[in-house]
Amino acid sequence: MGRPPRAVTRLSGAISVAAVAAVLALDAVARAASWPVLVQGLLDEPAHLLTAWVCLTALGAPLVPGRRERWVLAAAVLIDLDHLPLYLHHEGWAVDGGRPPTHSLALALLLLLVASMPRWGTAPAALAVGVLLHLLRDLATGPGVPLFWPLGGLVGVPYPAYVAVLVLAAAAAVVRHSGLLSRAPDTAT
Ligand SMILES: [Zn+2]
Repeated sequence: MGRPPRAVTRLSGAISVAAVAAVLALDAVARAASWPVLVQGLLDEPAHLLTAWVCLTALGAPLVPGRRERWVLAAAVLIDLDHLPLYLHHEGWAVDGGRPPTHSLALALLLLLVASMPRWGTAPAALAVGVLLHLLRDLATGPGVPLFWPLGGLVGVPYPAYVAVLVLAAAAAVVRHSGLLSRAPDTAT
């Protein structure tokens, strides 16, 4: 398959900037009122998806996600299914009253361990990346995450730090997909 046209790759950078703006807008709406859990989820999950997509684009992923990228994006959203026991009143599943233990590096390491075994293909490693990109946002929202579970409690970072990472990722996506990093044609004779 050939390289996509320059206009398409440039679109990746522009959409990354729009995605960061969308995340900020979603978070502003989320903070504007005390929403029911369902509405909070409907605001939070698209922001997770966009966060992961912007980071992947910064790393050079194509505008339309390939198979590996789709695994990453799926994990970046579906990991929140681990909250279901909490909604069924299994409060002990939360670490320090916050998020579940599966919101930790332990899950990413477990997936990487599976990825290192023969015959598993690239999916477990892609899922691990998705989990890490999910944690990137959760670190800065709500009570933080039990990042080092079972060795520690909740860890959080200020929201502006997350925004700074997103802005840097969008800037990297713009530069990477602008063609500025590609080698000029060799005109030497
Ligand atoms: Zn989460």
